[in-house]
Amino acid sequence: MTAKAEIRDGFKFRGGHLALDLPATVTGRLGAAPRDLLAAPGDLDRWLVATGLAPAPPGAGQLDLIQARTLREALYRLALARVRGETLPNDDRELLNQRAARPAAPPRLDADGRRRLIGDVAGLLAGLAREGVDLLGGELSGRVRQCEGPPCAVLFVDTSRKGERRWCSMAACGNKAKVAKFRRRERFVEG
Ligand SMILES: [Zn+2]
Repeated sequence: MTAKAEIRDGFKFRGGHLALDLPATVTGRLGAAPRDLLAAPGDLDRWLVATGLAPAPPGAGQLDLIQARTLREALYRLALARVRGETLPNDDRELLNQRAARPAAPPRLDADGRRRLIGDVAGLLAGLAREGVDLLGGELSGRVRQCEGPPCAVLFVDTSRKGERRWCSMAACGNKAKVAKFRRRERFVEG
């Protein structure tokens, strides 16, 4: 997979799971200047289309945007607790459960063979919350990782056989780490 294929409409899809790709809409979380890519309701529309869930912009409003952001931050903290093997934060767990209990947009198999969800933004977000419950409470919960390329902080599901994947993307953060290691070695040889 190339770095380009992992970015759609400016959003990163490297988590291998939409419940982890939503938190990735804040870039450089661990750096000095994190950036929220969901700055306006139109950005949420674009993200939902980029996920492949919505066939067309679902018409997000300001309230949808706030709801998406709170769900996103809850998913981030819950997934991070999984990465670190810590107890899941109660408030975030409750928020996720409340969202998952809302009516979710039903899935549809489209003529082009793709799965899409049919519903408004609230329904799409409820579907995402359910996927979050499935991930964080399911078999893959022990395989949630955080990219080791600072300040990236992107979360992903490690589906490699050995379970030793370190970067959100070999083509991006993995390559950067390799180059940095090479430079360090060169300096050591020169010195
Ligand atoms: Zn990364």
